[in-house]
Amino acid sequence: MAKIIDGKQISMELKDELKERVAEYRAQGIEITLAVIQVGNDKASSVYVGNKKKACEYIGIHSLSYELEEDTTEEELLELIQKLNGDDRVNGILVQLPLPEHIDEDKVIETIDAKKDVDGFHPMSVGALSIGKKGFISCTPYGIIELLQRSGTEIDGKECVVIGRSNIVGKPMSMLLLRENATVTVAHSHTKNLKEVAKRADILIVAIGRPQFIDHEYVKEGAVVIDVGIHRDDNNKLCGDVNYEDVFPHVSAITPVPGGVGPMTIAMLMKNCVNAVEIQK
Ligand code: NAP
Repeated sequence: MAKIIDGKQISMELKDELKERVAEYRAQGIEITLAVIQVGNDKASSVYVGNKKKACEYIGIHSLSYELEEDTTEEELLELIQKLNGDDRVNGILVQLPLPEHIDEDKVIETIDAKKDVDGFHPMSVGALSIGKKGFISCTPYGIIELLQRSGTEIDGKECVVIGRSNIVGKPMSMLLLRENATVTVAHSHTKNLKEVAKRADILIVAIGRPQFIDHEYVKEGAVVIDVGIHRDDNNKLCGDVNYEDVFPHVSAITPVPGGVGPMTIAMLMKNCVNAVEIQK
C-alpha cells in the first residue's frame, strides 16, 4: 500500500519548529520582519498574500503590507523596493507575482536586495544555489526536499527525474537534488520518449502544468511521485499534474493534491524569512 506524503502535517511540524526559533530570536532582541507587496487586486494573488500574512502571524514574524493600485508605475514599485532594501528593520521582501503587464518582472526581482530575497528568485540566489553557496532557495522545490526528507525518502544515489524546467520549480529542483547527491535528469517539452525517461525514476517530480497528464505508464513500480501541479478539473475539484487514482497502485509513496506540495511552499517562505537573520549577519 502506497504511503501518502502528508504535506499539511509536515508543514505544520515545520511551522511549529520555526515558531520556536522566532521566539528564541525574540528573546535575544531580534524581531523578524517580512514586507509583502501586492500590485493590483488579482483574486488568486490576494488569497496567496492573505495566507502568507496568516503564516507570519502564526510563527511570530512581523509582516508589513503594501497594497498598491493596479496602475502603479514600474518606477514607483522599484522606488518602494529600494526604500525597503535600505530599511534595516526589514529582513525579507516579497513581491507577489504575477505583476501587471506594464511592469517588468525580471527588473523587479533584480532590484530586491539579494540578502532580502526570501522568494529565492534573484539571479544571485539562483547562482548561489548552483555553486553550493549559502543563499535563499526557491520555496516550492525547497519544500519538496523537506517533504522527501521528513517522509523518510532517501535521495542520495537515487535516480531522480524532474519533468519541467521552469525557473521557479524545475531548474532549482534539479540543483537541489544534485546537492543531495541524486542522479538527476530534467525532462521538458522537447524530451523524446518521455515515458521511458520518466520510468527510470526512483523519485519522479512532476512540474509540467498539465492536469492529470502523468499516468501509470510514466511511473516505475515502487517509485516515489511528487506532484507539483495544481489545477481545477471539470468538476471544479483540485487536481495535480499526476492522475493520482491511476498511479497510486504502482507507487511506494505519493503526494496528494491538495495537501502535498502546496502547503510546503508557504512554510518554506517562512523558513527563508527565519534564515534571513543568519544570511544577513
Ligand atoms: P511552467 O513554467 O509552465 O513550466 C512547465 C514545464 O513543463 C516547462 O518546462 C515545459 O517545457 C514542461 N512541459 C510542458 N508540457 C510538457 C510535455 N508535454 N512534456 C514534457 N514537458 C512539458 O510551470 P511551473 O511554474 O514550473 O509550474 C508547474 C505546475 O506546478 C503548474 O501546475 C503550477 O500551477 C504548479 N505550481 C505549484 C506550486 C505549489 O506551491 N504547489 C508552485 C509553483 C507551481 P518547456 O520548458 O520545454 O516549455
